[in-house]
Order: sequence, then structure tokens, then C-alpha cells
Amino acid sequence: MNTEIFFHDIFTKHILSPSHPESPERLTASLEFIKKEGNIDEDMVSLVTPTPASIDEISPLHDIEYIEQVKRKSEGGGGYFTLDTSVNSYTYDAALHAAGAGIMAVDHVMDGETKNAFVLCRPPGHHAERDRAFGFCFINNIAVAAQHLISIRGVDRVMIIDYDAHHGNGTQNAFYERSDVLYVGLHQDGRTLFPGSGKPSEVGSGDGRGYNINIAMYPGAGDESYALAFDEIIAPVVESFKPEFILISSGFDAHFMDPLTTLGLTTSGFAMMNSRIHEMAKRSSQGRLVYFLEGGYNIEVMQKESLNLIEELSGRPITLFADSYSESDTSMAHTRRVIELLKTELKGIHF
Ligand SMILES: [Zn+2]
Repeated sequence: MNTEIFFHDIFTKHILSPSHPESPERLTASLEFIKKEGNIDEDMVSLVTPTPASIDEISPLHDIEYIEQVKRKSEGGGGYFTLDTSVNSYTYDAALHAAGAGIMAVDHVMDGETKNAFVLCRPPGHHAERDRAFGFCFINNIAVAAQHLISIRGVDRVMIIDYDAHHGNGTQNAFYERSDVLYVGLHQDGRTLFPGSGKPSEVGSGDGRGYNINIAMYPGAGDESYALAFDEIIAPVVESFKPEFILISSGFDAHFMDPLTTLGLTTSGFAMMNSRIHEMAKRSSQGRLVYFLEGGYNIEVMQKESLNLIEELSGRPITLFADSYSESDTSMAHTRRVIELLKTELKGIHF
């Protein structure tokens, strides 16, 4: 079985505003880079053109009146939701195709048509709330796919790991009171970065208590902090939760060269996370694993991380890139404190 990349031309036609960092080039440059290295072939990696999601598939996650608003603004040629989140005439169609790509990807994995997949889409989704567009996002693609797995495919437990530099507020809120979808976010502390949420004390409520985990990172946190978070929190939580499917919100903006954030991951740090996630999926969820692109605003980093991800998912040798960054003792000390705090909060549930 091979790895599938879900991509549609419509993803490049949605444009927020001229020179906006969430640009079509993020996808086109990444795809070109993967192709140039000879990584797309029939045997190991294939490109799939997705179909749009239906309103029925989106409506468990979003108010229909809000979706209608996106449609109307798009049909009208454009309009703003927030100062940095606007639509053009292609946005509605692109958002439906991005959500549709996620559904198609998890279906292909469930049906054994592919072993795993990367949804290389725009617009991204993890900031989109039930009734509003936010942070360059309109429809929460990963939440729609998780819900589809639960309600249509009969999966009991889905785990979402979100390593985008920004907290996935929309995803957290979608499943905050539920124990069937476990959200883990690794993100820059909300006191220092948009959207401000994602405190370690936000652990879910009601039935969902203990099924929302925020590993908030100090600015400058890098490979060492993330490795520790995987060792101390994510690995034991996977053992305890036993996910049947793992979904990843992969934002490549946690790299130290990203222009919008101040985290400190290197390409090898991302490679470490992807390799550990892949191993966890093989062990706990029969390898069922789908990645969704969220952020990432340095084009060269986008290219390298996309290539690394495809190499990891398809089982090819990993290309190493020589970039390095040393994180401070302050950020390591902060990571240790957050980990201890989380272990206390989650005691009796996962620890
Ligand atoms: Zn981000």
C-alpha cells in the first residue's frame, strides 16, 4: 500500500489578501519540492484529487447559518470575517474541498486503499469555530474528519495531535466535553501568541475531562522540549487512550525560522515527532494515520517539512537538513513544570 497526498487546484485559488503569509505558494512550492526529489510515483506515493464535503458532513461541527455566510460572501466576490481572515470568490469552494479531502483521506485509510495520507490543503482549519471564521480558517477540516470517523465509520476513539505553533482553539472547543476524541496541542504559550487559549489547565469538562491536553511551550522551546513532551505525556496518553485512528494538525510554523512565531524546532525535531507519531500509530491504531496541513509561513521550511513528512509516511529514507537551534534552560524548565502540572491534572485518567 502507498501513501496518498490530497491536493486540489482550488486550494491555490483562495487568496486572503495580497502578500498575506497564508499564501497559495505554501502549497505549490511544497508540492514542487516533493516532486523534484522524485517522491511521487505509482508504487509509494500518489496524488489524489478530492471531492467537496457535503453540508451534512460539515453540519455536526458548524452552524449552517455561518456556512451560508461564507458561501454568500464568496458568491459576492469577497468580504472580511476578521482583519486577517477574508474570502475571495473561490474560498467557499476551496474550504468545502479541504474538508472533503480530509473525509476522503480517512475513508481511504479505513478501506485499506492507502496506508496513510497527507491532506495538503488550504484554507487550514484548526482555528475555525462552530459559528465563525478565525485565524485564516473557515471549516475545521480535522474536526470534520474526526466526527466522520466516529459517526459514520463507527470508530470509538480518535486522537488528534496538533503541533502547529498556534493553539487549535476550534478543535479543542469542538470536542471539549467528549471523551471519544482526545485533543493534544503542543503550541507556543497563549500569553505570547495568537489565539491566546490553550492553557495546561484547560483539560476538558464533563465526560471530556482529561481528554483535552495542552502542552503550552515557552517561546524558544525546541527539539528537547518536544522530545520530553512526547516521552512524558504523549506516549503514556496513547497507551492509556488506545486510539483507533490518529489525526495530526501539522503546522510547520513551530520551526525556529518561521516569521510569525518564536518557537525553536529544527527540521530534525519535526522528523523526530513524525517518526514517533508513525510508530505510535502502527502500535496502537493499525497504522491509521492522516496528517492535515495547518500553518507554516516560511516557504523553504514548508518544502523541507513536507518532504520529510512524505518520506516518513511512505517509509523512504529521511533527507537530513543541517539546521540547528539551541533552546534556553528557561524554556526547558518551563516545559518540565508544564509536564508535572499536566500529570497532576490527568492523574487517575491517564497516569
Ligand atoms: Zn499556526
